[in-house]
Amino acid sequence: MTSDTPATRRVLVAKPRGYCAGVDRAVQAVEKALEQYGAPIYVRKQIVHNTHVVKTLEQRGAIFVEETEEVPEGAIVVFSAHGVSPAVHQEAALRSLRTIDATCPLVTKVHNEAKRFASQDYDILLIGHEGHEEVEGTAGEAPDHVQLVDGLHSVDTVRVKDPERLVWLSQTTLSVDETTETVSRLKERFPHLIDPPSDDICYATQNRQVAVKEIAAQAQLVIVVGSENSSNSKRLVEVALDHGADASYLVDDASLIDDAWLDGVATVGVTSGASVPEELVAEVLARLARNGFEDVEEIESVHESVRFALPHELRKDLRATV
Ligand code: SF4
Repeated sequence: MTSDTPATRRVLVAKPRGYCAGVDRAVQAVEKALEQYGAPIYVRKQIVHNTHVVKTLEQRGAIFVEETEEVPEGAIVVFSAHGVSPAVHQEAALRSLRTIDATCPLVTKVHNEAKRFASQDYDILLIGHEGHEEVEGTAGEAPDHVQLVDGLHSVDTVRVKDPERLVWLSQTTLSVDETTETVSRLKERFPHLIDPPSDDICYATQNRQVAVKEIAAQAQLVIVVGSENSSNSKRLVEVALDHGADASYLVDDASLIDDAWLDGVATVGVTSGASVPEELVAEVLARLARNGFEDVEEIESVHESVRFALPHELRKDLRATV
């Protein structure tokens, strides 16, 4: 211990954290497909945005590809939790692929909203991050009607056909506070802009942000376990910094924690993104314990009990073999 090491060092662990119902379902879909049909099982894009999950599934026989054209004709391909556009379904059908669609039902809900508003000739302002798979899938449902709004700075460049026939939708994994700000700015420009029928930012994203706010208010440092390409994990870092933490870092696993971050820190907050397995959090806690952070308290902000059934294509085959 150095002279500026606090006498007591504690860890506050946010709850809920880690796997959401959509990620759990998508990962299980690949695992069950491997058991049911045998390796290899192809997966278009990362099934969920977590490096460790992808590596583990690869070791079991999953092959991750960027596009369906890389999948041999007739093979089985799983679509990731982030969803795909209708064009991807068509390409898969043309190649006679057997598809298992692990799109999270809450992403499908946003796709359905996009289709419905487009059929009523609304312009759709889709708030989200350019290039994110989920946004590409949702926009692909109604490419002639959807316009991406990527952050506050892009509000001024929005152009619409009819400012009285306008709705906003969003990616499911955004910062709630930032999205609220973007929507207010859009409404200043377009007072007739209507809201989605229900929240597009999903329950899991919202709950993890509520939970990290609570620990960030009491911690000097917040460690978020998650991968760099995970939108909801990155938002947790931003929310922690906005709500009291002096510092916050995103780490894929415990090995990436720099001991210098812990200098002079008495309370560390820990949370994890919606695609992160709990064992990675356990490893972070073990690493912190080795640095004297042995007093661990879990702070539960919201109770979660959401579960989704496996994709129906898979359930049908699993039932048939029971
Ligand atoms: Fe579904 Fe939300 Fe999880 Fe994404 S973060 S998979 S939308 S529950």
